[in-house]
Amino acid sequence: MLLNPRDDLEFVRTLRNRPKEVLRIIPTLPVILLRTARTLTMEIEIRTSKRTELIDITEEAQSMLERGTGVLVAYCTHTTAGIYVNENEAGLKEDILALLDKLVPPRSYNHDKVDHNADSHLKAVLIGNSAIIPVENGRLRLGTWQRLFFCELDGPRQRKVHFTLLHQ
Ligand code: ZN
Repeated sequence: MLLNPRDDLEFVRTLRNRPKEVLRIIPTLPVILLRTARTLTMEIEIRTSKRTELIDITEEAQSMLERGTGVLVAYCTHTTAGIYVNENEAGLKEDILALLDKLVPPRSYNHDKVDHNADSHLKAVLIGNSAIIPVENGRLRLGTWQRLFFCELDGPRQRKVHFTLLHQ
């Protein structure tokens, strides 16, 4: 057993000092069974406040790790949002959003006939909806400047990110 069991309260406690956008961590019900298979799952809820917004969720991902070695999969369960790994620098975050605007300029897209958010879907395709991060000795094996981001592309909304930890 490489992870210590945590109850719901402990998960919530880990959020005490987290950014207010991240509302809560939801341990999924089969956690105990999955632990025996050396898998742990978790969801976080995120409340975004803008139409497009980049939110650093590295600490939330780290909160489900204690020790052990494996991989963590972060998966975005939405079609107008994404997940990526890069630097948390204010100018770069603006550059990324500006690049997406340039690649998907305002115009009439086919999907706009359905719900007027084709640009959000197209940007989400460019960002991608998952990231796989190595875990070593209970720590995300990120590079010095790497952080895990949730990318809101059609906010403000209530969002979820699902994590799966596979470990030795
Ligand atoms: Zn749509």
